[in-house]
Amino acid sequence: MAHVPDPDLRRAVADRVRYYHELGIYDFYRRELASTERAASAPSASGTTDSTLLAPSQPELREEMATRKPAVVAAVAEENIFDVLNPKPEQGVADPKTALKLIREDLGDCARCKLHKQGRKQIVFGVGNPRAELMFVGEGPGADEDAQGEPFVGRAGQLLNNMIKAMGLQRKEVYIANVVKCRPPGNRTPERDECETCSPFLMRQIAVIKPKVVVALGAVAAKNLLAFNAPMAELRGRFYDFIPAGARSSDPSWQGAKLAVTYHPAFLLRDPRQKGEAWKDLQMVMKYLGLEPPTRTAE
Ligand code: SF4
Repeated sequence: MAHVPDPDLRRAVADRVRYYHELGIYDFYRRELASTERAASAPSASGTTDSTLLAPSQPELREEMATRKPAVVAAVAEENIFDVLNPKPEQGVADPKTALKLIREDLGDCARCKLHKQGRKQIVFGVGNPRAELMFVGEGPGADEDAQGEPFVGRAGQLLNNMIKAMGLQRKEVYIANVVKCRPPGNRTPERDECETCSPFLMRQIAVIKPKVVVALGAVAAKNLLAFNAPMAELRGRFYDFIPAGARSSDPSWQGAKLAVTYHPAFLLRDPRQKGEAWKDLQMVMKYLGLEPPTRTAE
C-alpha cells in the first residue's frame, strides 16, 4: 500500500516547493534513495518521519532560507502538495484568451465553497482584455453582477468605469475580477475559507494575463492579494511587488506585477469625500504605466 505522508510533512514539502517556485524553479526530479537514506526516511515506530530529511544539508542553504525575505504572495490554505506539483491545464498555453478559457472550464459549475449554495445565480468569472496591462480586483459580485454574470456592472461599476476613463483608458482595455466569483448572500463580506478556496483561480487568471499593475479595490481584495491585514490608510500610497501565489505564468520573463491599493468604488459612493484620495492612488498607477488623463475637448 502506498505510504501517505502525515499532514505536517505534506505541508513542509508544499512550503519547500513554493519556495523553489519563488526562486523560479518548477521542474523536480526524483533521486533514488541509497539504502541508508531509505531506512532513515521510513516512518519510525511512532509513525513519524526523520525530520532531518526536511532540513537543508548545506549550511549556506540553511542560512539563506533562514534570512530570506518572504515574497508578497497570497495565502493558500490547506495547500496540497499534489496541487502544487500537478500542472494546471493552462500551463504552457501562450495565448492568454485560450488560457483563461481553460481556467474557466477547470472552474466548471463550481461547488468548492459554500457560496455555491447560498443563492448565487451564476459564477462571475471576470471580464476584459486578456492581455491587459492593468487589472482591477474587487471583493465579490453583488446583485447586479450576479444577475448579469459580469463584475462591476452596478452603481459601483459605473463609478469604476469613470475612474478607468479618467485614467485615459476604456473598460475593455483593462481586466476586472473579484476575489470570490459567487455572490455572498446579502452582500456580506466573503469569509476567509471562501476567499481561500476561490482565490487560487484569480491567481491563475493574473498569471496568464500578466498585468503590469494590479489595483486592489478595498481592504478585502488587498488582504487576500497581499496575504496581510492592515488598515487602508497604511495599505494605500505605495506599490507592492506581487507574485500570484501557486500560479505559474507561461512566460518566464514575467516577474510579477506592481500592486496598488485604493478604495472600493462602493465605499466611494458612500463617502465621496475620499474620491480625491482614490484619484491620488490612480495617478500613481498612471505614472507607472505612462498614462495621461484624456484631454477635455472645448465645449
Ligand atoms: S465562490 Fe469560487 S470557490 Fe466558491 S463556489 Fe463560487 S466559484 Fe467556487
